Amino acid sequence: MSKLSQEEREIIVGSIRDIHDFPKPGIIFKDISTLLNNPKAFRTLMDHLTERYLGYDLDFIAGIDARGFIFGAALADRLGLGFVPVRKKGKLPYTTVAEKYSLEYGFDEVEIHIDAFGHNGSIDGTRPSRVLLIDDLIATGGTAKAAANLIDKVGAECVESCFVMELEFLGARASFPTVLYSVLQI
Ligand code: AMP
Repeated sequence: MSKLSQEEREIIVGSIRDIHDFPKPGIIFKDISTLLNNPKAFRTLMDHLTERYLGYDLDFIAGIDARGFIFGAALADRLGLGFVPVRKKGKLPYTTVAEKYSLEYGFDEVEIHIDAFGHNGSIDGTRPSRVLLIDDLIATGGTAKAAANLIDKVGAECVESCFVMELEFLGARASFPTVLYSVLQI
């Protein structure tokens, strides 16, 4: 299993920008646009994820709308796998399965195409497709939990959920439904 060296960790950490009071007062927004436009940092991260997931015998990477698409699609291409977008409600054109989750005020909803991981979630009908879920950051875990439930609902298996950053103090890990891996703990 690949482990980040101290130097690699510092390259990635140093490329992520903190924006105070965005999108509202009291929030420190972790801005990954400065990681993406830093080729050394982006490559260091993608090399690490590629090494980690090479031996997982995965069939698909599922990325969460919208920053999970960037890391997920890059990783899928490196591993020679298909990529599946988990989208906010109303964006996918074919038959979808949806999952609601609570926000501070009200709720939101994510969707996936019913056949995204093959018919009944299987490519060849013999076993569920093995899926890695990915996003840039896990905070309360509501979004990622809903996405993991969707993978399960369409018949595939979410073998791990991966995040570039985990806001540990929010405690999402304690009740998370799949194995959870985070590159950086904050
Ligand atoms: P949650 O459902 O609370 O785990 O929120 C996770 C989603 O919100 C992810 O898609 C993140 O990109 C985004 N998010 C939540 N908090 C932050 C933050 N402090 N900085 C950047 N993105 C965040």
